[in-house]
Amino acid sequence: MTGGPPGSFDPFRPPLIGAWVWEETMTAAQWRCECAGQCGRPHTKTKGRCGTIHGTAHRLAVVAADPLATLTAAVTATERVALCATCETGVRRTAEAARTTTEPAQPDLFDTTGIEAA
Ligand SMILES: [Zn+2]
Ligand SMILES: [Zn+2]
Repeated sequence: MTGGPPGSFDPFRPPLIGAWVWEETMTAAQWRCECAGQCGRPHTKTKGRCGTIHGTAHRLAVVAADPLATLTAAVTATERVALCATCETGVRRTAEAARTTTEPAQPDLFDTTGIEAA
């Protein structure tokens, strides 16, 4: 069941990204939420890292390390993290809040929409 053939890779089937990538990330995370406070909670009880373990009660999601990355980016990203639902929500909220409060004072390096739209 592990390491299926590449041909069966489907980035958009649950859970969000390919099962192979998902399992690889989860294994690296030791099946535990990798949030180290990005969600806005200190996780002091569990030594600074969320203690949620993947299981039937809590299913972890594998997302791009950049919380604002698109789902497609999550598939191709080299940086992925396993997050529980609570932390994933918190991380995204924190990142979006930071983005909206920070005025775009400099050109976005990742912005491809501004390229010579002739
Ligand atoms: Zn968590
Ligand atoms: Zn967290």
